[in-house]
Amino acid sequence: MLGQEYSVTNHTLGQYHLEKLYSGMEQMGISCSPSEIEKLLIFYEMLIEKNKVMNLTAITEFDDVLEKHFLDSLSLVRNINLRQSLKVLDLGTGAGFPGIPLKIVFPELELVLVDSLNKRIQFLKEVIEKLGLSGITAVHGRAEELAIKAEYREKFDLCVSRAVANLSSLSEYCIPFVKIGGYFISYKSGEIEEEVKAAKKAIAVLGGKGVEVEKFTLAGTDISRSFVKIEKKKSTPNFYPRKAGTPSRDPIH
Ligand code: SAH
Repeated sequence: MLGQEYSVTNHTLGQYHLEKLYSGMEQMGISCSPSEIEKLLIFYEMLIEKNKVMNLTAITEFDDVLEKHFLDSLSLVRNINLRQSLKVLDLGTGAGFPGIPLKIVFPELELVLVDSLNKRIQFLKEVIEKLGLSGITAVHGRAEELAIKAEYREKFDLCVSRAVANLSSLSEYCIPFVKIGGYFISYKSGEIEEEVKAAKKAIAVLGGKGVEVEKFTLAGTDISRSFVKIEKKKSTPNFYPRKAGTPSRDPIH
């Protein structure tokens, strides 16, 4: 078993049972080093500690965080080769999902974490520093404001997002950040046909093409999930994204 290759030496971390993490990673074909496992565990501890004073996650049990946050975040590996130096933006990262687990396990990725809530961004800056991560920044701002800035607009190979908005609004947040030839991949739950249908127009208008839906079961669970993968084919018209609040109040339809 993959797990036998690891020995987490730090005594404070020895209390955790890591079987679920190892077997979930093994199912997804992910290998990672003991120091990466240790970083995931330190991140878990920081998350739980900060969650006492700030709303970061409703899920706090170790096994649940492993499955529903860590393994779920990492399942992106099913969809795209993450062992390369892609420029990735995580829109509405919240407590760092999927961005932080992705950066820890796939260190070649160059990550920008974005959230409109400054307290969460401050927490993520502490995480980045404590874990000694490089090639990752946490930026405070709304998608609608950052995506019109030259330094962010159409600069990313990949924009990912989990649990932020419906696919139509989310496309308006995310597609403007993506380079032509790059991808926007949204983490979604299992049943998304209607949502995809409702977002077709928005995706086309924003320059996306070819919506691919991949359904799967989250490793080690019976939770059904899906990825919606959209390739960017054309530049996004300057009109988009519209001003803050409009994409969610009045999605392109
Ligand atoms: N992706 C995380 C957090 C989801 S909660 C996870 O899966 O656990 C949604 C997050 O999106 C919140 O932290 C909220 O502040 C952020 N958010 C919502 N609308 C946004 C916008 N327009 N621009 C940037 N961040 C946004």
